[in-house]
Amino acid sequence: MWKRFVPFAHAQSIFEIDVSFYKKLGVKFLLLDLDNTLDSYKTELPSKRVVELKEDLLMEGIEIIITSNNTGKRVTKYAKALGVRFMSKLAKPFSKRLLKKLKAMKIHLDEVILIGDQIVTDISCANGAKIKNVLTEKLVPEDQPTTRFNRLFDNPLRKKLNKKHLLKDWREF
Ligand SMILES: [Mg+2]
Repeated sequence: MWKRFVPFAHAQSIFEIDVSFYKKLGVKFLLLDLDNTLDSYKTELPSKRVVELKEDLLMEGIEIIITSNNTGKRVTKYAKALGVRFMSKLAKPFSKRLLKKLKAMKIHLDEVILIGDQIVTDISCANGAKIKNVLTEKLVPEDQPTTRFNRLFDNPLRKKLNKKHLLKDWREF
C-alpha cells in the first residue's frame, strides 16, 4: 500500500524540469495532469508558459498528452487550445482507463512519464500502472472541492515521504 505513494521523482513544478531528465529516461510522452500541475483549475485556456513548454518539448521530440480526472468539457477546451492529445475523466488513482487509452494510442509504458501534483490520484495511478512519475508541488493555492478533500490525505503523506527522504529530486537522475 505504502509503496504506491512513493513517487519516482519530485519537482517543485513541471516548469523547472530540464528536458535532459526526460532524454536520460528515454521518455517520449509526458502524461500531464492539468489542474494545479499545468494551470489553476480556474484557468480555462493554457497560459503562455504552458504553450512555450509544449513547443520547447516538441522541438526535442517529446509530446505532451493531458491526462486529467476533470470533465470532458474542461479538458477538451484546454487541450484543443494547446493543440495536444488528451484523456479526461480518467478516474485516477485507478489505472484501467489510462492503460486502455495508452494501448489504443500504441504507446509503450516505458516511453512515458506521468507528472502530477497529487499523491493519492496521480502518483498512485502511475505506480499502479508501473509508469514512471514525478510529483510536483501545488502551482497555485486554490483547489477545486474534490481536490481539497484529497489534500487531507495528501498533505500528511507528503510530510511523511519528505521525512523519510523519499522525495528524490529530478536533478538526482
Ligand atoms: Mg492536479
